[in-house]
Parts: sequence; structure tokens; C-alpha cells
Amino acid sequence: MPNYIGRFAPSPSGPLHFGSIVAALGSYFQAKSQQGQWLVRMEDLDPPREMQGAATLILKTLEAYGLHWDQDVIYQSQRHHYYQQQIDQWLDSGLAYYCQCTRKQIKQSGGFYQGHCRTLGLSSPNGCAIRLMVDEPITQFHDQKHATIQIQPDLAKEDFIIKRRDGLFAYNLAVVLDDIDQGITEVVRGADLIEPTGRQINLYRYLNHAEVNYLHLPLAVNSHGNKLSKQNHAPAVDLDSPKPVILFAMQFLGFTLPDDFQSANIEHILAWGCQHWHINQLPNSLSAPCPF
Ligand code: GLU
Ligand code: ZN
Repeated sequence: MPNYIGRFAPSPSGPLHFGSIVAALGSYFQAKSQQGQWLVRMEDLDPPREMQGAATLILKTLEAYGLHWDQDVIYQSQRHHYYQQQIDQWLDSGLAYYCQCTRKQIKQSGGFYQGHCRTLGLSSPNGCAIRLMVDEPITQFHDQKHATIQIQPDLAKEDFIIKRRDGLFAYNLAVVLDDIDQGITEVVRGADLIEPTGRQINLYRYLNHAEVNYLHLPLAVNSHGNKLSKQNHAPAVDLDSPKPVILFAMQFLGFTLPDDFQSANIEHILAWGCQHWHINQLPNSLSAPCPF
């Protein structure tokens, strides 16, 4: 596929950790093994959860790791007008509506939003979230590695949030609008993002756009079985010695590495990775322990 365009889309809530390097490398190998482009998009949608300087640090880390991206980096914080325009269009056409339910109320009604505000005709954005009507829930999708993946029906049925009560744009909306705008053909990311995939496919349908291909990589988990994340303080990867992390991440992605890699440089290792990468090598499980 000569027109492959993939991407890595970190949120600058902290420095990159082992799990982020796995996602970066997996998406990089998948793109570059098909002579594709690999873009980087900074998902700086949620200022309260961002760490000062993290976006710059992330880009510096990718460079130190030999992961050079194509085109200019896109920042979601620069694209609010574009997200709002789409929301306004859906509000006008009645596909989206204001919702004043609190998290607590939703919890009390069984944990899933049941459409309470669908027909209330609320017109004030103050203190309201904006939801999109889901009339055809997406309960499964095709993944390049895992074939059919099921999504919990109650979750799939929910009218989901596209703009939050606090005025921030929802991740699902921004990701799909940007993936379309950037011409992304395949999304390669961690298995922690399987759940929102149904909602994202819904958005593609509303936007009359063919959905991308999906490939979900095994998620690196800590000794308690929890996802490594910036929120639970996963250690930042070492900026000064990328090689050991790259080698661990490649083994995590199912590569059997040649013995002489201990003395190879990272350009050589990455080029070898692009040549030898194949989806079949990926472990079948959706999560695996972080190797260090
Ligand atoms: N920004 C998201 C994250 O860091 C990833 C988005 C995606 O790959 O779709 O978890
Ligand atoms: Zn509501």
C-alpha cells in the first residue's frame, strides 16, 4: 500500500514511558515497512492534565530514539475552531444535544448514560456537556491483528460526549476529525484504546467518511496489572540511552533480535526493524508485563 499514512498521537501529560515507546515504535514500523509516512500529533486537549514542557520533551525523546516523523507536528490546541464548527453543525441538524446530567446521576442510573437529556431540548451550553445521538451502536470492529473485537453493548449504545461540561473537546471527536484531516489510513495504538474505537467508528459514519484500519498493540502493564501511564507515574524513558529501551520494546513487540545488536547503533536497529516487522509476530495477548 504506497499511500499508507500512520501516526503517533501522544498526550503531553508527562514524559514518554515504556508503553508510549511501544506505541511509537509499533506505529513507526507498521508505517515504514510499507514505505508509508509516519506523522506525530500532539494531543494537547486537556490543559489541566498537561505537564509544563512535556510536548517539547516528547519530541526531543522521539528524536533521541531515532524516530523521525514526516510533515509538521500538529497541535490539537490549535484546532479548537475546527472541532467547534463540526459540533455546531451537528447541534443545528439535531444530531448533537446538550446534556446536564452529572457523573453522579449517571452512576445512579446504572453506570451508563441512558439518553436522559435527548428530548429535553436544552439550549444553554452553561454547565452542559454535548452528546452525539447514537442510533446504530458499533458493537464490534475489525482489528488487523485480533480480527473481530467486541465492544460492550451498554457502552456502545451510549450517546457519547463530544464536548465536556468544562468546555474541553472530547478526545474521540478530536482524534477522528484530525485523523481524517491528516489523511491517516491506519491507526496503530495501545490496546487501552479498544473501547473508544466503537465511538470513533460512529463518528466516521456521521462524517460520511470511510473508517481507517485499526491495529491495537499489547499494552504494557506494571506488576499490579495496571496500565503504565503518566497518571500512575510510570517512569520516563531515558533520553540519554535509548538503545536498551528500544531493544526491550522491540522484544515486547515480538521481534527475535540478532545477538550482535548489543553493538549496533539505533539507526541500524530501526532499519532492521522496518525490514523484519510483521503483524504476525505480535503476541496474541492484549497486555503484557513491562520487561523492566
Ligand atoms: N492521545 C492518546 C493517548 O495518548 C492516543 C490517541 C490515539 O492514538 O488514538 O492515549
Ligand atoms: Zn443528560
